[in-house]
Amino acid sequence: MSENQQGEPQKDPFERNRKPKVPQMPKFNYYWIYAVIAVLFIALTFLPKNAAVKTTRIDFINRMLLAHDVEKVVVVNKSVAEIYLKKDAKGLDKYKELKDRRMLGEDVGPHYFFEIGDVTSFETDMRERQKGWPATQQVPIEYSTQNNYLGDFLFTWMLPIIILVGIWMFIMRRMTGGPAGGGQIFNIGKSRAQLFDKDGHVKTTFKDVAGLDEAKVEVMEIVDFLKNPKKYTNLGGKIPKGALLVGPPGTGKTLLAKAVAGEAGVPFFSLSGSDFVEMFVGVGASRVRDLFKQAKEKAPCIIFIDEIDAVGRARGKNLVQGGNDERENTLNQLLTEMDGFATDLGVIILAATNRPDILDSALLRPGRFDRQISIDKPDLNGRAEIFKVHLQPLKLAADVNPERLATQTAGFAGADIANICNEAALIAARKDKSSVDMQDFQDAVDRVIGGLEKKNKIISAEEKQIIAYHESGHAIVGWFLEGLDPLVKVSIVPRGVAALGYAQYLPKDQYLYTTEQLMNMMCMTLGGRAAEEIVFGRISTGAQNDLERITRMAYGMVTIYGMNERIGNVSFYDANQEYGFTKPYSDQTALMIDEEVRKLIETCYLKTKELLAEKREKLEELAQILLEKEILFQHDLQEILGVRPHDKVLEAAPAEVVEVIAEPASEGSQEAENPEA
Ligand code: ADP
Ligand code: ZN
Repeated sequence: MSENQQGEPQKDPFERNRKPKVPQMPKFNYYWIYAVIAVLFIALTFLPKNAAVKTTRIDFINRMLLAHDVEKVVVVNKSVAEIYLKKDAKGLDKYKELKDRRMLGEDVGPHYFFEIGDVTSFETDMRERQKGWPATQQVPIEYSTQNNYLGDFLFTWMLPIIILVGIWMFIMRRMTGGPAGGGQIFNIGKSRAQLFDKDGHVKTTFKDVAGLDEAKVEVMEIVDFLKNPKKYTNLGGKIPKGALLVGPPGTGKTLLAKAVAGEAGVPFFSLSGSDFVEMFVGVGASRVRDLFKQAKEKAPCIIFIDEIDAVGRARGKNLVQGGNDERENTLNQLLTEMDGFATDLGVIILAATNRPDILDSALLRPGRFDRQISIDKPDLNGRAEIFKVHLQPLKLAADVNPERLATQTAGFAGADIANICNEAALIAARKDKSSVDMQDFQDAVDRVIGGLEKKNKIISAEEKQIIAYHESGHAIVGWFLEGLDPLVKVSIVPRGVAALGYAQYLPKDQYLYTTEQLMNMMCMTLGGRAAEEIVFGRISTGAQNDLERITRMAYGMVTIYGMNERIGNVSFYDANQEYGFTKPYSDQTALMIDEEVRKLIETCYLKTKELLAEKREKLEELAQILLEKEILFQHDLQEILGVRPHDKVLEAAPAEVVEVIAEPASEGSQEAENPEA
């Protein structure tokens, strides 16, 4: 239902976005009402008083009363005396200040006023002063009560209400995320989906998505369906209502969903699962309803829900928290809506998550997200292709080679690669180059891996030595033990905030690990601390990150993979956090687990120290060269340590999925050897 350029909607008279024929009036600003009210209020309160001249009791008595000029006195609200002068008196010279008064109409008074203080004493005073005066000359005192209704009303009723409303609106605005989030309170139940219309917005096509060939084939069917649904429905087939894109962040899930919309030429609603979640009860469900209503109006179209686990988490498992009713209501509504529309309507829901295991099983049943399309981190070819896509807009020097860049960026996701290309361009621009060359890309890769290179970070010579031996320890253990990933690069160039050094490994494609392999991995990870202890006789905090990983690995081996003889072939893997605070084993078992983990780590540590003591010379040599060169590559290591003893196929190993083992402390980066993953 696109808009008609002539401004004449022909099909649908209720089309929401119809252009008004009359040019729009400038918007009336409601703040003017407040301004007018304020001015009126001020005028009414202050004007009448200005008409009378303020005076004092003494002046009144001496100048006016005793001169017999006063017609009458009116005491208002028992606090103010208003003085009315006699007709012939007010023109007198001594009352010349009366001429300056602002008056509307005839001058009937009052002419002066003053605060009397106490009424009784004022009355007594008046009586005393007029003692003996003839009755005709006695000045009468009248009393009146004037209510400032408007003022009272405003102050006692309106003001608190205005303040309350103001506070309420402020809070609402905050909660709905400011003007961008539909600032008006009445929009709180509206879906927050971002709509990319086919008229111009979704320009993404499959060409922009590099790699992901299998995933593309899968979604091709959806594109085809959106283009000509008849072909499928005629044969009685049913098109899936939704597909779940499963993969780590930054691998192009959003991009792919957008490309599907772009290819099919249909509108695209994009939102995140967390957009549904609000602290008000019922809001999430109402947003889901609104989203589907909008989508049906725009059908055929695609709804993309990023991070669906925010709403789609399995229901009713977490007993400790008492369950999140609001989230469950939202999820129920989502399920209902997905059941509610017929497939031939042409609304297809794509959702992304990287934790399909925690999703509610109802979401994965047929008729909902019955397809799962897995999107993995790109392999070598994939990375080269992603590089090609993102290199296109850059001005490149001749030496830039996407294939070589791909080999250096193992383990990177598409988003990281896009980031590297951008960084490289920025680095080149900072150096005033006319094109981006390979060195800029190298710097960009280094920066993305380890944060900004800190050339001026001051590290004492002593600390540097510790770091060098620590890294060398890892490298040597990794070199001589069997079944470990070959090391690509060791660096002790400080980077980022906490990274003091790092080692980069080259993992093989491997999904199953043996007990020995895992133990060797633990040894390698312990290598840093062991080297410190052997060489310096004392240890440092630099191994904290290593120890964290080792602890996780050891507990994993004992409690998840059944790799401990005493505990036996059991697995306490708690994928859905079902157990909460209660453990599925007895206290004795818990004690045993702890003992076995300690024993395991201790065994590994002893083995590591033994190995390093044996290779002490090599360790010294490597550390010295590392101190000198700061960065060592695989061939440097081979020169120093000789050919890796257990490497049968070093040359043939695919140069893929290098993961960074950050060193020491918490230097960001991935965990290469987390068996739980
Ligand atoms: P996800 O939704 O999986 O977290 P995105 O789709 O948001 O990831 O990807 C972020 C960015 O990374 C994209 O905008 C794109 O620039 C880049 N990117 C990721 N994967 C690819 C790919 N396969 N081809 C090209 N660019 C990609
Ligand atoms: Zn370490």
